[in-house]
Amino acid sequence: MSEETIIIANWKIALGGKESGELAEQLKKGLRRLPDGKEVIVCPSFMWLQKVSEILAKTDIKTGAQDCFWEERGAYTGNVSPLDLKESGCHYVILGHSERRKYLSETNLMVHQKARVVLNNGMTPIICVGEDFDQRQGSQKDYAIIRQLSESLEGINVATDNKIIVAYEPVWAISTSGGGIKPEPEEVSYSADVIRHILLDLYGNEIVNTCFRIIYGGSVNSSCVADYTKLPNICGVLVGSASLKIEEFVEIINNA
Ligand code: PEP
Repeated sequence: MSEETIIIANWKIALGGKESGELAEQLKKGLRRLPDGKEVIVCPSFMWLQKVSEILAKTDIKTGAQDCFWEERGAYTGNVSPLDLKESGCHYVILGHSERRKYLSETNLMVHQKARVVLNNGMTPIICVGEDFDQRQGSQKDYAIIRQLSESLEGINVATDNKIIVAYEPVWAISTSGGGIKPEPEEVSYSADVIRHILLDLYGNEIVNTCFRIIYGGSVNSSCVADYTKLPNICGVLVGSASLKIEEFVEIINNA
């Protein structure tokens, strides 16, 4: 897998237009040059994605969307086309976030269709998987991850120039919509191994090493980020709440 450490900010719908623009300007100033070996991606709300992409256009920071629709054009009221995401300067798309699964009944089949169209449009899907608290307590953790990931990816051809990020985000670890419990690094490492084994089953060693990166997300802040990024099978982090404050986010990037 790639040696770069990837840090993804998920702003959800926490910020309005003015605040999104201000935070993007602060990032542009504070991170004129990214530390060596770090890759930073910011995912604003749909409304402000283009604005943020324009502000960050001449920096090394890339932008991503928090979802997209599986059709490119057509009569699909209220959805967001992958073609428009691409046109607005977006390189990454988060898919299957647990908040979408919870509030919008997003299924693995939907994630599958979205992953396919994102890849076809030359963007990188960030596929979120992770068990909820009851599944963990009921020893269903591996099963939950295996099901989410295999149903999301099975049947999708991955070529050597495709990039896919898999984010292990146990629902019970997410600070706002989940339980906010920080997992022990050993547990994250265990789940990353489960994910890697599924990917190996689906795609084999060469494609997995070339195309896939596994990251962790859930209550990451500047004090704990290194506990996860130092794990040999974790390539980075997905950060929610702690990405909304410039000093804290810069500290996360430095400590990752
Ligand atoms: C998330 O929702 O993807 C997330 C990681 O949030 P937080 O960092 O706030 O737990």
